[in-house]
Amino acid sequence: MKYRAAIVIFAGAAAAAMVLMAVWLAAPYFASDPLELLAAEPPSRRYFDAAGVWVHSESAPGWRWRFDVPLARVSPEARQVMLAAEDIDFYRHGGVDYPAVLRAAAQNLLHGKIVSGASTITMQLAGLSLERKRGSFTRKFVQAARARKLELLYSKDRIFGEYLNRIPFGGQLYGIEAASLFYFGRPAAELNTAEASLLCGLPQKPNFYRPDRHLDRARLRQKRVLGLLSRHGVLTMEEAGRLYDMKYLRFRNFKLPPQFMELARPDENTHFFQVETRLTPAAGDIQTRLDSELQAQLLILLRRRASAAGCRDAAAAVVENTTGRLIALVGTLDFARAGDGEVNAALAVRSAGSTLKPFIYAAALDAGFITPLSPLDDAPVDYGGYAPGNFDGIYRGRVSAQEALSYSLNTPAVRLLARLGEKRMTDTLKRFGLCGSVASSNGLALALGSAGYRLTDLVCAYCRLFSGQGGGVSHSASLAVAQMLRSRPLAGTAFPAAWKTGTSNNGCDAWCFAGTPEYTLGVWLGNKSGERVHNLTGAGAAAPAAGEIVELLYSRRPFPAWPPASDFLVEELLCAASGLAPGTNCVKRVAGPALRGLPPARCRQCGVKVEPIRIIEPGPGMYMAGASGFVELALAASRPVKWLIDGKMAGEKTSYRFAPGRHRVTAIPEAPAEPVWIEFGVTPAAAIKSTLD
Ligand SMILES: [Zn+2]
Repeated sequence: MKYRAAIVIFAGAAAAAMVLMAVWLAAPYFASDPLELLAAEPPSRRYFDAAGVWVHSESAPGWRWRFDVPLARVSPEARQVMLAAEDIDFYRHGGVDYPAVLRAAAQNLLHGKIVSGASTITMQLAGLSLERKRGSFTRKFVQAARARKLELLYSKDRIFGEYLNRIPFGGQLYGIEAASLFYFGRPAAELNTAEASLLCGLPQKPNFYRPDRHLDRARLRQKRVLGLLSRHGVLTMEEAGRLYDMKYLRFRNFKLPPQFMELARPDENTHFFQVETRLTPAAGDIQTRLDSELQAQLLILLRRRASAAGCRDAAAAVVENTTGRLIALVGTLDFARAGDGEVNAALAVRSAGSTLKPFIYAAALDAGFITPLSPLDDAPVDYGGYAPGNFDGIYRGRVSAQEALSYSLNTPAVRLLARLGEKRMTDTLKRFGLCGSVASSNGLALALGSAGYRLTDLVCAYCRLFSGQGGGVSHSASLAVAQMLRSRPLAGTAFPAAWKTGTSNNGCDAWCFAGTPEYTLGVWLGNKSGERVHNLTGAGAAAPAAGEIVELLYSRRPFPAWPPASDFLVEELLCAASGLAPGTNCVKRVAGPALRGLPPARCRQCGVKVEPIRIIEPGPGMYMAGASGFVELALAASRPVKWLIDGKMAGEKTSYRFAPGRHRVTAIPEAPAEPVWIEFGVTPAAAIKSTLD
């Protein structure tokens, strides 16, 4: 009986062992691939400037610092030390070190819980793919199964490489490259045995040993690693002692002010300019077009200019015309300043001042309304109460379009905009990439920059203008405007830059945009808080800064020639009074520039008997709207006009739905007559009725 029982027990045990064996052999085929799971954790990003210099880094999700390097870019010394410290038999075992497992199992049974991991490098890598929770036997089994999966699927070098790239080294440092850079200020490719003996001891208990906090513990651990190295015959005791006494820690912070880089993020770069984002062989590496030297010079220059202008903040951006790529961007003068130091002023929406005027002229040229030297009136205007004056309060009478633009006169720009109409203007701005807050702007006030834009948007628009590309207007119209904008020299430089300044109404913002045949740049000065600055103007503060930047760009290279005028202008016989194609009534004709490929409109103002226009519908006084709620708009004579209701463009419609209250209606004729306006009221009763319709 005893004998038979023994057989049953033995057979049972054998069967159980075989089942366990089968489960163990089959386990890897059911286990997940740890590398597939780990691939979901991206490395940190590194940014390189145009010269290939590493200029900035960004942590990976979870604030981790981890840079991928191929195994060949980890020094042989570091690889050897890591193997000696963690898993000397790595290249010989099958992922699980069975003698060590048995030893650990015995210890664990003795203590009733896991005290020893028997972790090979493969096991540790598999462990990284598991959730943080530690300690259960099931977890250990899954880890071992995944380790065997790794050994089945991948080469030893691949496993070791992934391990080196992912193990923790204390704090937020993961992988040997980030750890080497942070603790020693050099890449893992340059690690020597002394440095490696400190570094490779850390993964065992990374936060306990991290040398930036607990150098004494790290040194003790290093001593043990050096002991292992001499035990494995890698070093003699003397060498180990000598290495222990070497000094090498150089902690380094690789986080720099990120504002240029914010725009370089491939997933967030919705910007006009391409901050070239070529992903280099190492995942997470980003190649930008940043000119580091120019960037550093810009910051110094802007700090000096802001201080001279009496403001706290400034911003600037420089873009390459041919590619539209950003090469320098300053968004803050002091990134570390408490409060708004990190705010990127180059991305803040601010009142654009007169900087939009060139786009009005570009649209007017494109529409054939003017030629570059067309005479325009600089005289008071009043569009139903909207009566902008000039910056200096002086009206210059008859001026050429070029003078009107280069001196930034308000009334000719407002007249042009009134003729263009709001829709045509906003369409043009949109094609220049300026769609920001036009909709909220008040019609004609747009000419004077009531709309808000970001510095980067405006630099983009100017880049398109100066380069004659970008679809805003025709090639000739944009190049003609660029030429008009260089008719006066820019302060601070002898180079023939095209430029335009702007000042927001209350002296909060000073702007200057400048262009060369190769680059477009923008400068803003003011306070991020929006606080007013005494005597701050675009011409006084921003233009000299822009001139200085042009000088910087051409300090060591020749200033290239602008495209010749014959590329975009042709000499034509024009009416002297309008600068347009002469009609039969035009008495005086002169030769003047017209756009190539864009014949100017025929002059309609000469010989026309100027009849004052008169609004007959609606009449002044109170008015009762019809059942539809609409009021007809009508003139005494049939002439093309644009209507302005309460200072806002209403286009060429002939009826309009009015809200109750007082209204101003202005009729703006095509040249040559002045606009007229009336005031009238709509009774609330009619309005109520109209809203019921
Ligand atoms: Zn004429």
